Amino acid sequence: MTTYLWNPPPPLSLPVRGKSERFPINRLFFVGRNYHAHAVEMGKPVDKSAERPFYFTKSPQTLLESSATTAYPPETKNFHYEMELVVAIGKAGFRVSADRAHEIIYGYAAGLDMTRRDLQLVARDKGRPWDLGKDVEESSVCAEIVPMAGVVIERGEIALQVNGQTKQQSNIDKLIWNIREIIADLSLFYHLQPGDLIYTGTPEGVGPVVPGDAITGHVQGVGEISLRIGAAS
Ligand code: MN
Repeated sequence: MTTYLWNPPPPLSLPVRGKSERFPINRLFFVGRNYHAHAVEMGKPVDKSAERPFYFTKSPQTLLESSATTAYPPETKNFHYEMELVVAIGKAGFRVSADRAHEIIYGYAAGLDMTRRDLQLVARDKGRPWDLGKDVEESSVCAEIVPMAGVVIERGEIALQVNGQTKQQSNIDKLIWNIREIIADLSLFYHLQPGDLIYTGTPEGVGPVVPGDAITGHVQGVGEISLRIGAAS
């Protein structure tokens, strides 16, 4: 029997709607600038005819279940919400064609890609890695996984409120690279595995939260998410 110097952390997982088994987490992928209006508000419009999608990753250890309270994170003065549709991968896939992308989808979830925007923009503008802005502890918030094997979501409202006031409201049909295209492209670079999550990008309207704020959001046909911002850690 293998023994360890100390107890290894338990496997990371999320609840699955309608099941007692949980969804074990492998990696967390994020698509950058995948709604035109958000790319424009960030000052970096996208020309799909001349560009490919780009990605960043976060440590799986940044995962946080919906309905939690997270402490306002250290070393930022501009902590932002980003409401996103999350694709949950259920089968291995490498160089998956767009027309077969549905075969590796297990389901979907509502997600939040919480971001230290001030640090992300400094990194972006100095040509440095985004990690301090994006790989924030407890920043990959995800609701329960909704089993929808083989289904490709093409439309549906995506929206977010802070303290009940709508801040983001768009539609999945506005994705620059749709779910088939994302799986096809990302699987050129990575051997996708069961348990991988792909956060598909956020629409326009991103903005700051402060301690005491309550975030709620939903993706039509998928589900809801919530997060409370606690006092600074
Ligand atoms: Mn994002």
